[in-house]
Amino acid sequence: MSVNQQAHTGPPYGQPQPGYQGYQQPAYGGQSLPGVPQAQYGAYNGPVPGYQQPVPPQGSLRAPPTSGAPPPASGASHPSGHLAYSQFEHGDVQNGIPASAAPMQRPPASQPFLPGSAPTPVSQIPTFQQYGAPPASVQQLRNHMAGMTIGGTAASAPPPAGLGYGAPRPPAMPGPPLPGQTVAGPPSSQPNHVSSPPPPSTMAGLHPGPPMSGLHGPPPPTHPPQPGYQMQQNGSFGQMRGPPPNYGGAYPGAPNYGSPPGPPPPPKRLDPDSIPSPQLNELPPQQKPRHRIDPDAIPSPIQVIEDDRNNRGSEPFVTGVRGQVPPLVTTNFLVKDQGNASPRYIRCTSYNIPCTSDMAKQSQVPLAAVIKPLAALPPEETVPYLVDHGESGPVRCNRCKAYMCPFMQFIEGGRRFQCCFCSCVTEVPPHYFQHLDHTGKRVDFYDRPELSLGSYEFLATVDYCKNNKFPSPPAFIFMIDVSYNAVKSGLVRLICEELKSLLDYLPREGNMEESAIRVGFVTYNKVLHFYNVKSSLAQPQMMVVSDVADMFVPLLDGFLVNVNESRTVIASLLDQIPEMFADTRETETVFAPVIQAGLEALKAAECAGKLFIFHTSLPIAEAPGKLKNRDDRKLINTDKEKTLFQPQTSFYNNLAKDCVAQGCCVDLFLFPNQYLDVATLGVVPYQTGGSIFKYAYFQLETDQYRFLNDLRRDVQKEVGFDAVMRVRTSTGIRATDFFGAFYMSNTTDVEMAGLDCDKTITVEFKHDDKLSEDSGALLQCALLYTSCAGQRRLRIHNLSLNCCTQLADLYRNCETDTLINYLAKYAYRGVLSSPVKTVRDALINQCAQILACYRKNCASPSSAGQLILPECMKLLPVYLNCVLKSDVLQPGPEVTTDDRAYVRQLVTSMDVAETNVFFYPRLLPLTKADVDSDSLPAAIRNSEERLSKGDIYLLENGLNIFVWVGVNVQQGLIQNLFGVSSFSQISNALSTLPVLENPFSKKVRSIVDMLQGQRSRYMKLIIVKQEDKLEMLFKHFLVEDKSLSGGASYVDFLCHMHKEIRQLLS
Ligand SMILES: [Zn+2]
Repeated sequence: MSVNQQAHTGPPYGQPQPGYQGYQQPAYGGQSLPGVPQAQYGAYNGPVPGYQQPVPPQGSLRAPPTSGAPPPASGASHPSGHLAYSQFEHGDVQNGIPASAAPMQRPPASQPFLPGSAPTPVSQIPTFQQYGAPPASVQQLRNHMAGMTIGGTAASAPPPAGLGYGAPRPPAMPGPPLPGQTVAGPPSSQPNHVSSPPPPSTMAGLHPGPPMSGLHGPPPPTHPPQPGYQMQQNGSFGQMRGPPPNYGGAYPGAPNYGSPPGPPPPPKRLDPDSIPSPQLNELPPQQKPRHRIDPDAIPSPIQVIEDDRNNRGSEPFVTGVRGQVPPLVTTNFLVKDQGNASPRYIRCTSYNIPCTSDMAKQSQVPLAAVIKPLAALPPEETVPYLVDHGESGPVRCNRCKAYMCPFMQFIEGGRRFQCCFCSCVTEVPPHYFQHLDHTGKRVDFYDRPELSLGSYEFLATVDYCKNNKFPSPPAFIFMIDVSYNAVKSGLVRLICEELKSLLDYLPREGNMEESAIRVGFVTYNKVLHFYNVKSSLAQPQMMVVSDVADMFVPLLDGFLVNVNESRTVIASLLDQIPEMFADTRETETVFAPVIQAGLEALKAAECAGKLFIFHTSLPIAEAPGKLKNRDDRKLINTDKEKTLFQPQTSFYNNLAKDCVAQGCCVDLFLFPNQYLDVATLGVVPYQTGGSIFKYAYFQLETDQYRFLNDLRRDVQKEVGFDAVMRVRTSTGIRATDFFGAFYMSNTTDVEMAGLDCDKTITVEFKHDDKLSEDSGALLQCALLYTSCAGQRRLRIHNLSLNCCTQLADLYRNCETDTLINYLAKYAYRGVLSSPVKTVRDALINQCAQILACYRKNCASPSSAGQLILPECMKLLPVYLNCVLKSDVLQPGPEVTTDDRAYVRQLVTSMDVAETNVFFYPRLLPLTKADVDSDSLPAAIRNSEERLSKGDIYLLENGLNIFVWVGVNVQQGLIQNLFGVSSFSQISNALSTLPVLENPFSKKVRSIVDMLQGQRSRYMKLIIVKQEDKLEMLFKHFLVEDKSLSGGASYVDFLCHMHKEIRQLLS
């Protein structure tokens, strides 16, 4: 089977490799479906020129008349469960194997690389310096916290839940959502952050902005940009909150804001030392002023992102130097591999690890790496080279089995090498021998990727294959629920129509003409229908299996087929399926037998593969894996809340184990009209490395475009099968814990039936010995997998980190976005076994300890009243607060149990860019967009007081896009964007923006398309009118504000953290 890849003959980096056409680029990116802008698939393509306004692709579809009212589905007849929870078997999900689902990941690479910022020649002095900046960079946050809750009675408790601004809770939004509403959709609750193509350095308010009329706020200040955060350092605290200097449109309606733009009030200088000190209580009342902390004086995510883009976005990130902190995920940058893996593959919480375990414990900074082994890369970067050592296979250390890499030391004239991980000395095999030059480097150093690059692949020999047999190409099996709900909503017809064309876009390897992947089809309700689509048949044949208790596959020959060979039979089948079940009255479904059927089919065909299951309801039909409705919101905030996240039976855990053994990955598309127990149905997708997509209250008209985009990308994206990942480390640390969508049968090997380009695995490390500053620490992630053509490969990523004996070095080289990714995953796993409050308190405590340790050991002496944050962790409080307020940890009334289970699993496989925008959403003032430029308007902070009634804003978090329209928006703008003449006529049932021929409409739609192209899932578009009911939902994402579910505002939380830190220090 070994494919004809010649041994790599060494083009230097950067040159396109002749032999190996990377597997993603030509194969995936190159194809595009008719009518489907390819940009969707190439997540990193950035602005998508070809992307059309969503036109329902299937013109021929017959829209089902009834999309509105769901028929009495089977699930509906279920008594909403008030079961004794003790009967459930909770033991299934334990720490080792988190039962979460596997979201698709946006490739970290997905930062569109803007062609404009052409890579400059490799710089000798990489930009990392600013991270390692000397202590001068320490940000001293001396807010005038007078009047804050600090020191007050309430201050010691976390900002009380439920203490909203006094606004009444929005009526919970029960029942079927209003059109356009996202209720059951993906989590609304999270904040997220930025991550897209950076509008190079346009701080809002500083530039004139587009010629928008309708700006009601005070004109943008004209004085030079004084980024909010720096202002503090200039001592200008204490100014009354006025129009934030950085942002153009202050909220005109607010009492303090609308004042005519006179000269700003003279900054009031406060002695920082007198401020948030414990003595505050003793201050005379008049000094506990009503002025709160100026939100512009606390660290701003927008500013940090902007600064990083400006400072680090223009130079390529060259990976030759050990322990370099990469640019933020929100910065566009090119990567040049010079011996360490790109940050698109691996990001770490810190790039400088404490030498001792004691130091690590003292700091409480978790040591973790977020690894995305098959990440997609922007076209400008080279995919990992494939190295073929022939029958002898890759060269490895005799003892620890680490793979040859740039850090191995050749000795004795090149006859042996010493392992950089375990120090063992290994003979160089004769065929691999090469002389050393005068520096001790092999003379073929630059010719061999495994000696000079951080990431590369080896062709695996038969020894790396199951049963010592090269694998067959994988198969895709499409399994369609044809119960009443699925048929009636038009879903079955939609899927069948789509598959007819989609099957031509299965993943192909390199420049192969057609995909090697075989396909099969199953439909089901209470029974299963298998289809023989053998090419020699005139018509497909159906075989029904009604004994679902002991699933078997009734046919072998003709079930899994080559698409081209069986094209006409498949087309005929896909035409017939919607007709065959058009009049079905069957409302009940099975679920586990469906997975079993797919698994048995792959077993019989002796191959790995993926099941695409399209499912609508709680599987209540009599069959293995049958479920009960056990939803119970009353458990929220009780000790039993964790049961909501646990599967209700261990049946699916066992099934998942069998699936992993076969390399059977499950992707689940859910279309629920009510509770269907995502926590249980998600077990198999999650543990097999698959994904879950959820379209609650699916309606053909509004949701088909989103679903089809997700399906297309899911079918076409790069994926490996039967994967095993192991992370080796140099002596002194080792991988101790893992988070993500996978299965583990021992403590070291992460097994995934499938692993796609979006999936991330987070690995935590602990010390088991001392490290040395000289040798640093090394990681090697080795992923063994079967490619989409059936080739067995090893993908290797190496990363070298620094080690330190001074805590200050640790704190100078941390990455907060990665820390948050780890902390969120850690917390989201914690809810499986602990009460949510315990999890939240532990998070707060850990972060307070991290910051207190810094304050105690690294910050220059100052009064206790100062909050001092490490420069690279200054956003830790704001981001942490977003995690604490997220739906999983603090659900609002509109969040369903299924939503929470879904989000919990989704986040567990997210990469750093995704968690970033998910927890701190990106908020863009659309009315400030420059219609003549390609750039995005400058993002603003997620707070209601940043919104102007006269403007229109866009907020995205990777799952949803909101377009918020202020009540005072000019009629002309409304006409241009929505094609209606007044605010009241804007329909919030719109799921896309109308296509109108004017610059503003085009600009906004291009922004939406660009954002969609950057995300791994197609985001749901929701129009929100100010003061409308849906606004409550939108406000949930204004994460710097107090939330209706009780989450603290940023300012309050920062004060709370300050208090916690002070307590730890005293
Ligand atoms: Zn070794």
